[in-house]
Amino acid sequence: MSNTSFMYDLSAGNCVGVGHPDLFIEVEFEKEARCVCKNCPVVDECLITGVVGRHEGVWGGMWLNRVFSHTLRAKRSRKAFRERQSSIAAKLGMTLTQYLAAYGEGVKGLERAAEALKHLPA
Ligand code: SF4
Repeated sequence: MSNTSFMYDLSAGNCVGVGHPDLFIEVEFEKEARCVCKNCPVVDECLITGVVGRHEGVWGGMWLNRVFSHTLRAKRSRKAFRERQSSIAAKLGMTLTQYLAAYGEGVKGLERAAEALKHLPA
């Protein structure tokens, strides 16, 4: 179930004030948008916000609709998704193996991890 009330503050994102309105929405600009996301300080939070909110387009450096498809580009997305899972696991004080055992693979696992992140002390 989507929990659209769960949103992070992304105002520190690299994309703030950058590019044109369609940059993170239209697939033709995907590569350009993902470049803006590189080294973004809120990349994990952005991905969680996009996934939990069922948003489309580039969130957290990935085109969300392609995360689990079977194209070559999706393999790159799956690698990026694994990197985000590792980073989120570290925030939860876990290894990636522990994260996967606790929350599982894929978007559902990320949603479960997002719930756990909400309860971490600030
Ligand atoms: S990860 Fe990308 S889309 Fe998300 S806040 Fe950062 S720059 Fe913006």
